[in-house]
Amino acid sequence: MELPPSAAARIAENLASVQDCIAVAAARSGRPVSAVTLVAVTKYAGSDAAQALVRAGCHDLAESRPQELWHKAAALADQPVRWHLVGHLQRNKLKRTLPLIWLIHSCDSLRLLAAIDAEAQQLGRRPAVLLEVNISGDPAKHGFAPHELTAAWDVVLGHQHVELRGLMGMAGVEGDLELARRDFTALRLLRDKLQTAAGHRVRLDELSMGMSGDYEVAIAEGATIVRIGSALFEGLA
Ligand SMILES: *Cc1c(COP(=O)(O)O)cnc(C)c1O
Repeated sequence: MELPPSAAARIAENLASVQDCIAVAAARSGRPVSAVTLVAVTKYAGSDAAQALVRAGCHDLAESRPQELWHKAAALADQPVRWHLVGHLQRNKLKRTLPLIWLIHSCDSLRLLAAIDAEAQQLGRRPAVLLEVNISGDPAKHGFAPHELTAAWDVVLGHQHVELRGLMGMAGVEGDLELARRDFTALRLLRDKLQTAAGHRVRLDELSMGMSGDYEVAIAEGATIVRIGSALFEGLA
């Protein structure tokens, strides 16, 4: 299916304006624009809109639900897409999901980490994984509690079939940028602490933080990946 040309043009414009804002935010904190990867979250859109993003030059796409990721990955199978999963992954969906994925942002428990590790061994893969941290402590959110991750750190590092690349987190309160900054700073400091404790065993280079409403603050606090959904689809009917 194809979008009307006007909708595809609007998506391309939205993408360009988000890319501009990322470049400005990166420059403001003295970082090269290449230090920040834009991952487009397509959960609000159909495969046709996802395809328009790819045509406009965005090759990192994310879904929050595994089934929707399977569906869009099949629809865009002939496109150069790196798929990211940013939502909760049920263990019974691992076998089908792992082969499709470039980066899992949402490894949110030791149980899931162990299951990914076991499935990866079976499949002969070594998937790249971020550990999702519930940085604000909101009980409605998924993720490791910071103290849980610190306490279990040696157990986490014992999983040989996953490539741990960093942490993912969300600001607790939408719309309050100062609180968001506090949460993003806390995630960065936790990463630094875990990296120090890990020594050379892993490189936690990636900090996936920042969404449409707060990605500029996240970049100022060290985000290497921003996950942008709604800002890319503004102005579409
Ligand atoms: C939906 C979603 C996003 C994108 O949110 P927007 O505010 O629409 O940019 C980012 N991360 C996760 C985990 C999401 O579920």
